[in-house]
Amino acid sequence: MKTKIHVLLVEDDKSICSFITTSLSGNGYRITSALTGKEGLSLAASLCPDVILLDLGLPDMDGCQVLMQLRTWSRMPVIVISARTKEQEKVHALDLGADDYITKPFGTSELMARIRTSLRHSHINSPERIYKALDLEINFEKRLIFLRGEEIHLTQIEYQLLTLLAEYSGKVLTYGFIMNAIWGPYMDSNNQILRVNMANIRRKIEENPAQPQYVFTEIGIGYRMLENENI
Ligand code: CA
Repeated sequence: MKTKIHVLLVEDDKSICSFITTSLSGNGYRITSALTGKEGLSLAASLCPDVILLDLGLPDMDGCQVLMQLRTWSRMPVIVISARTKEQEKVHALDLGADDYITKPFGTSELMARIRTSLRHSHINSPERIYKALDLEINFEKRLIFLRGEEIHLTQIEYQLLTLLAEYSGKVLTYGFIMNAIWGPYMDSNNQILRVNMANIRRKIEENPAQPQYVFTEIGIGYRMLENENI
């Protein structure tokens, strides 16, 4: 028999807690829940769950503090549960090492999709050498990009940007993370250069740049690339 995926839920809202527990256990997951940050940290250490769902507004400590403490000793996947309007909070959590976030209210299928993505990423030791989704293919070794079998030409920066997103496909990358990875820590925090390059990439790979199929904007947060089908 397959071992059940073990999810640790750190959430003080009892109604959300029971919704997640019911829906995930009904789909074959094992759930342990904690109502405070302190309890969450101690269960994370003693049980080593496969993934943690972490609410940011906890009664005893800020969810970001829980994340910071956890990241001093563990790389286990963390999906932050966050309120709709708190973009800054999500960015902060992602920059502190959260793998993803999900916005309340959310459905079971969205939650399960995020859990599957975070588990897949945590089990990858080396980056995939091919990215493929819909009609787009990136060969990282040969540094070639194809759209419907035709080679696409990108500038150096555009290539770096697209392959960064492709390596983390399915996950949201914050503007700060991308800026730092491509332009380094001394670039000012204005995202204009990033937006310009993204617009150029979209013109080259998207059929309709206003309704992208490959690279999605997470408003106020960053970008998320369509998941690699090749994993
Ligand atoms: Ca809460």
